Amino acid sequence: MVTMDRADEDRDGGQASRGDHYAIPLECVPAREATGFVVSLRHSGAPAFKGRWSANYVCGRCGAVLCDGIRPGLFVGIIFQCLCGQYGRVPVPPG
Ligand SMILES: [Zn+2]
Repeated sequence: MVTMDRADEDRDGGQASRGDHYAIPLECVPAREATGFVVSLRHSGAPAFKGRWSANYVCGRCGAVLCDGIRPGLFVGIIFQCLCGQYGRVPVPPG
């Protein structure tokens, strides 16, 4: 089992909150409003993205993690379709 993803950054900064990602729920939108850039995870599976930041985007309906390790503001405006079928728009971060 490889765990390098967790072990190699302990010394730089220390402000990363590894392991305690906080959840940012996507704004649920009805299918008819799911226009523009839509990423469907129904067939590709979730999460759609794995990064090294401290937050997750989760489905506003079922709570599934759709993007893992994002930073607030990433993918703003993009709509993800969850495995459960719900469409959710990435919210604009406060501030
Ligand atoms: Zn869902």
